[in-house]
Amino acid sequence: MPLFKEVKKLVIKATATAGGEISPLRPVYVPKTPPCAGACPSGADIRGWLTVIAQAEAYGRTSEEAFRIAWEKITERNPFPAVCGRVCPHLCEDACNRRLKDGAVAINALEQFIGDFALAQGLELNRLPGERKAESIAVIGAGPAGLSCAYQLARRNYPVTIFEGFSQPGGMLRYGIPKYRLPREVLDGEIQRILRLGVALKCNALVGSNISLEQLRRDYKAIFVGIGAHSGIRLRIPGEDAPNVFTGTEFLNRVNSGHEVGVGGKVPGVRAKVLVIGGGDTAIDSARVSRRLGADVTILYRRTRSEMPAIKPEVDGALEEGVDIQYLSAPLEILRKDGIAVGVRSIRMDLGPPDASGRPRPVPRPRSEFELEATTIIAAISQEPRINGLNLAHNGGPWIPTEGAQVPGMEGVFAGGDGVELGLVTIAIAQGRFAAEAIDAWIQGEPLARPVSPPSIGPERVKLGWYKPADRQERQHVPPAERSADTEIQLGLAEPEALAEAQRCMSCGMCMDCETCWMYCTNNCFAKLPKGEHYKVKLELCNGCKKCADACPCGFIELN
Ligand SMILES: Cc1cc2nc3c(=O)[nH]c(=O)nc-3n(C[C@H](O)[C@H](O)[C@H](O)COP(=O)(O)OP(=O)(O)OC[C@H]3O[C@@H](n4cnc5c(N)ncnc54)[C@H](O)[C@@H]3O)c2cc1C
Repeated sequence: MPLFKEVKKLVIKATATAGGEISPLRPVYVPKTPPCAGACPSGADIRGWLTVIAQAEAYGRTSEEAFRIAWEKITERNPFPAVCGRVCPHLCEDACNRRLKDGAVAINALEQFIGDFALAQGLELNRLPGERKAESIAVIGAGPAGLSCAYQLARRNYPVTIFEGFSQPGGMLRYGIPKYRLPREVLDGEIQRILRLGVALKCNALVGSNISLEQLRRDYKAIFVGIGAHSGIRLRIPGEDAPNVFTGTEFLNRVNSGHEVGVGGKVPGVRAKVLVIGGGDTAIDSARVSRRLGADVTILYRRTRSEMPAIKPEVDGALEEGVDIQYLSAPLEILRKDGIAVGVRSIRMDLGPPDASGRPRPVPRPRSEFELEATTIIAAISQEPRINGLNLAHNGGPWIPTEGAQVPGMEGVFAGGDGVELGLVTIAIAQGRFAAEAIDAWIQGEPLARPVSPPSIGPERVKLGWYKPADRQERQHVPPAERSADTEIQLGLAEPEALAEAQRCMSCGMCMDCETCWMYCTNNCFAKLPKGEHYKVKLELCNGCKKCADACPCGFIELN
């Protein structure tokens, strides 16, 4: 700090010589929504937990204390940081203002680090203070939406029971996403911690089959429906009923359930050739799992790489593992021999004007048909919910309608996650939380309070040049030749890397105690308060010189 004082004296002297510009405007603190939080479907307080780590030393905390506080902040909204730190496509990083300087802050890697730290330390989730509530809630589906909803309700002291159709919880985190991306001990660790909060879990309980929704409505005060979308959509082309044609969700479910899935041909000595159709995460996962089962793999995708909806690094991973991707190609017919699929007749496509999704419409190129051999074909084009037996008001379609989080016309029934609209893990977690908040408000007879976000802050309001250049810390990956079916291929950050990476957060739109305003103020308007409370602005001393606002690197100070 003595150095700061010296610099400040120089600043005061220089300003006194130049003469201060006088204005009626006065500085005000205006917290902003940083782009990371603005882009996160869960609205996670990313800046909040990053700066706790970055400022550990300044606040006299050990790294461990800072990591624990960061974890507590994350889990207020998301009980799955170790899961999300592995599978979330991190829209937060795409928006991070630091991307325009020396690379976005590696938020996803840091989330994984904090999640893994909490699992290793055995940190436990806690209930909010308050009496145990009398109203019991049923949650249908133990995917991320259902588990998030159950967690938020258990936190609020409601008795919660989850009914899950499969033999184990996790939804697509267990039955879709492969182990090499999400180790099951990590998934189990974060699920068991939710259950230890007092959430009851009934597996092999398929609602609509061995227990009815009506029964649950009689037995429970409110229901959350988080059934996901597990029914793979068929290609609707001739020949698809052959026994070696799977949908992507069916194929991954079998592999992830531990069933032996042979992708090879029926002819001894013929090498397994898998053809995957689609360009989303299910297609890429199916292709990479098939590689691990020993097959040559080709993906057919009807648009180009830039329109592929799959997570980009996953596509890169597939390519580096030897998966061939045939872009601008679509299947016309499954070719069969003795009832068994032996290949696909396909056609090349060209991109036409945009369709309803906003992406260029693929148009068949005349006289461009071609054939590819296959021993197994996986149609991974999309999936929809299995709504059979649930009697939800669904207007004839498979998707569950919601208004807010409520299912219209069904009092006390709420829904979220992929069963409402296909999304991401982070969206399912957010919708589970929104539904829990809506259920709590409905039961308590209170209006649902939705906090209004403060204005967002873009890169033009942040002084990129003020921050010291610092290279982004990247996670290492197991080299392709050494990868196996079950071993995780993306390695986490080490503690020194995590600490260095958190320091790269620019705290966009929120004071980070950098003292720049105090240093630049020639009238001594800024009185230091205890740590965490930042400064008191003594407006009576201010002459409106604007230096504080001009100098504030993170765009926290405005003039009013
Ligand atoms: C192969 C694949 C890979 C993916 N990769 C990613 C990724 O990397 N990153 C990402 O963010 N997202 C990814 N996603 C999307 C993500 O997995 C989903 O958005 C998310 O799991 C949806 O959560 P959910 O809880 O709504 O549904 P699910 O995870 O599908 O869980 C629904 C649960 O409900 C149960 N259920 C269904 N019907 C009933 C019933 N009648 N009674 C009782 N239980 C029932 C199911 O058995 C299941 O356990 C991927 C999806 C797939 C298919």
